[in-house]
Amino acid sequence: MRFISTRGKTPPVDLGTAVREGLAPDGGLYFPERLPHFSAETLEALCGAPTSRVALAIARAFLDEVPAAELGALVADSLDFPLPLVSVGDDVHVFELFHGPTLAFKDVGARFLARLLGRLTSLDRSETPLTILVATSGDTGGAVAHAFYGVAGTSVVVLYPDGQVSPLQEKQFTTLGGNVRAVAVQGTFDDCQRLVKTAFGDPVLGEQIRLTSANSISLGRLLPQVLYYFIAWTALDSRTDAPTVVVPSGNFGNLSAGLIAKRTGLPIGRFVAATNSNDTVPRFLRDGVFDPRPSVRTISNAMDVGNPSNLERIVHLYDGDVAALRRDVVSTSSDDSTTRDAIRVVHDRFGYVLDPHTAVGWAGLAEARAHGEVAGPAILLATAHPAKFRSEVERVIEAEVALPTALAANLDKPSHAVRIPPEPARLAELLVQVKKR
Ligand SMILES: *Cc1c(COP(=O)(O)O)cnc(C)c1O
Repeated sequence: MRFISTRGKTPPVDLGTAVREGLAPDGGLYFPERLPHFSAETLEALCGAPTSRVALAIARAFLDEVPAAELGALVADSLDFPLPLVSVGDDVHVFELFHGPTLAFKDVGARFLARLLGRLTSLDRSETPLTILVATSGDTGGAVAHAFYGVAGTSVVVLYPDGQVSPLQEKQFTTLGGNVRAVAVQGTFDDCQRLVKTAFGDPVLGEQIRLTSANSISLGRLLPQVLYYFIAWTALDSRTDAPTVVVPSGNFGNLSAGLIAKRTGLPIGRFVAATNSNDTVPRFLRDGVFDPRPSVRTISNAMDVGNPSNLERIVHLYDGDVAALRRDVVSTSSDDSTTRDAIRVVHDRFGYVLDPHTAVGWAGLAEARAHGEVAGPAILLATAHPAKFRSEVERVIEAEVALPTALAANLDKPSHAVRIPPEPARLAELLVQVKKR
């Protein structure tokens, strides 16, 4: 399979090029040139099969460049943790994607990307390691750092705003060491993003190091996310009704993957794209006008995105037809107080603890059902473990949330981070140093 740009001004490229480049030269996002199709019989035959077999059957159609045996290992490694589907309340199946090393669904995409890039670098036989540069406001840094930790031929540099990341999140990328470097930037998250952009645009730096990104537009993060929609569907007890799928959304990478799964034949009803107060997409579906706004802070902070970058992929998939998109997607917006209510109600009624991001999804589903926009069984993607947002959740449910052992152990390890002012020259210096180590 080859990959094209959503802006159509780049000739089709192979998987390696698309994954290494991140963004296409014309500024667009990479997208499969032609989508595969899975027949009802193919899907039926996968029902009840082990996760790894389902994932591999789907992955092969997208990643035919990778030899089957290697792809099997790649997929198994990326999904190397349980993916339970838990029934909660009225026909809701909570799909827990948060049992990976950093307790968020981003582990799936980041691990796949890391292994894919590791494989590509070993094929290159290049002496120069690949430097993965990523800016984080919290969740991405941990997932990417853990995913690349110990992957031969790669080193990771995580930029984060000094003092503005929760201690628990910070520990996830500052305690690893090895090929992972944490850089505390004396500035804001926007400063971090600006530094990353400047580094990628710096031709002198580009001659000295091989730089690649791992942000949410990366095709290497998108493709593995398509797989778990198939995993959830084949794990349902009953598939007589096409289920609604609820996706707590920020940058809309996860929803892009779900819509691709539907287009390739997975019998999903409608999607509920649940946002917090950052409601650019609900407004876009309502008015047909894309009007991004600066992000506002909420308790589901990994979804605080005012200008969702993956929307371009979705519009491309629907060929710009907003009416068709509206038929497949209902988009909701819930504020913090509604989110807290969802956490409280689900805990009190069903004894199940939602993290704030998944709670935005719960609230969105309730709203869409109340308006008659969706009906029947629903799969709710649970994107983070409630312990990751423990203090907020504990305040709401007035009960303790246990820390998983891996997370607790992390808190005792010493942090290592270099502190720099938000100056491109300082980052460039550091990047060249990292390469020499
Ligand atoms: C990143 C993230 C999201 C949003 O996912 P997108 O693919 O960016 O829409 C939702 N929940 C959690 C916990 C996240 O870390």
